[in-house]
Amino acid sequence: MQQRHGRHILIVGGGIAGLTLGYWLKQHGEHPTIIEQAAQCRDEGYGIDFSGSGWDVAQRMGILAELAKRQIQVESMIIKNSRGQTVVQQPLAALREALPHPMLHLMRPELEAVLAAALPPDLPVRYATTIVDLQQHAEYVDVGFNDGSRQQFDLVIGADGIHSQTRQLVFGPESQFAQPLGYTFATFKIPKLADYGANATMLVEPQRQATIYPDRQGGFLMMLAYRSPQTSLPAPDQRKSMLQAAYRNAGWIIPQLIDSINHESAFYCDVISQIRMPRWSQGRVALVADAAHCLTLISGQGAATAMGGAYVLAEELAKTADHQAAFQAYEQRMRPFVERKQAGARRVALTFVPRTRLGVCLSQLVMRAAFSPSLARAIGKRIGFDSVLAMA
Ligand SMILES: Cc1cc2nc3c(=O)[nH]c(=O)nc-3n(C[C@H](O)[C@H](O)[C@H](O)COP(=O)(O)OP(=O)(O)OC[C@H]3O[C@@H](n4cnc5c(N)ncnc54)[C@H](O)[C@@H]3O)c2cc1C
Repeated sequence: MQQRHGRHILIVGGGIAGLTLGYWLKQHGEHPTIIEQAAQCRDEGYGIDFSGSGWDVAQRMGILAELAKRQIQVESMIIKNSRGQTVVQQPLAALREALPHPMLHLMRPELEAVLAAALPPDLPVRYATTIVDLQQHAEYVDVGFNDGSRQQFDLVIGADGIHSQTRQLVFGPESQFAQPLGYTFATFKIPKLADYGANATMLVEPQRQATIYPDRQGGFLMMLAYRSPQTSLPAPDQRKSMLQAAYRNAGWIIPQLIDSINHESAFYCDVISQIRMPRWSQGRVALVADAAHCLTLISGQGAATAMGGAYVLAEELAKTADHQAAFQAYEQRMRPFVERKQAGARRVALTFVPRTRLGVCLSQLVMRAAFSPSLARAIGKRIGFDSVLAMA
């Protein structure tokens, strides 16, 4: 029987990785504490394809049925031209069937809500809480919180996402590790000007694209991705005008929908950057998921890999009282998987949004061809959705 170590472990960040990690540390007899900077379970979000490692971990947590209830049906991929005319319409069933792994389309906050509900009652998330200071000692880590209090922990895990404060405090500034892929993205709720149906409806123009997709409440979201050399964003109150400039004279109804952004739009925007670090742990502190190795929306599978990484980290910690050996084993299991996904994302980034009109035409041809059964199978295999849990 495995020994239970009963360590006090602070998890910074109550997102997908943090909640999963809390669940599994508790299962293994540790004493986790989860802190989350948001005032409550965040409800802003975007659609994610959920498969691979996340699926396997969710199955082990017994929450797959709950997640399946929250599935959003996306039936077809539609491509519009700048005049709003449909130039490609393809049902997604063939592509879905060709995937080597089952997949759900979910809203990210709903995945988080299901993960939070799976936590035992004696593991509440401490909302509106963040770290301001972190001092490592031989036997413990001394942490200062935003309410002025301090507490000692055996270990600290940064599960605080791409802009991790834990990483900043322990490993150094984000600029050392962030590798922008040449794009900016934004996602936000849009007014129901029309019924776009159960479809992902996309406009692709040189240098920029826009996709409208359904949420589960009968509303719609917009996702923008455009080529940009920027490495950081302007102040929040200037981001709407940044998007208006990037999509000036765009076709269809895209500029109108960007103009509609207001405080109810749950507007989320960032530079698309990978996080690449030589090591994911230092002393008694380790990083997990986007904090350690953000894959980006270009590769997808960030949420799934976040759950896989959290599971593997908890499992490796359970095997030994030597936290450094556990951190090393966790990194050895995760790193090849992560580096393969990141390399794939860098390749896809070259053509993710076409640069020219010719590129746009080519992408439409690919979309038309992609849904023949044999090509769909090849794409399905290439997209992967493999699971880190399936690896030895
Ligand atoms: C537009 C978009 C589309 C995507 N599509 C997909 C997809 O199709 N499939 C997929 O699998 N993945 C997708 N991803 C990626 C996925 O959402 C992320 O990889 C995943 O959420 C990472 O989980 P995480 O727990 O590391 O970080 P997050 O989910 O970002 O969670 C981090 C948490 O830490 C909290 N936090 C931050 N700083 C602090 C602090 N200092 N103190 C306390 N708390 C803090 C945050 O509030 C947040 O709750 C997409 C991402 C984006 C942006």
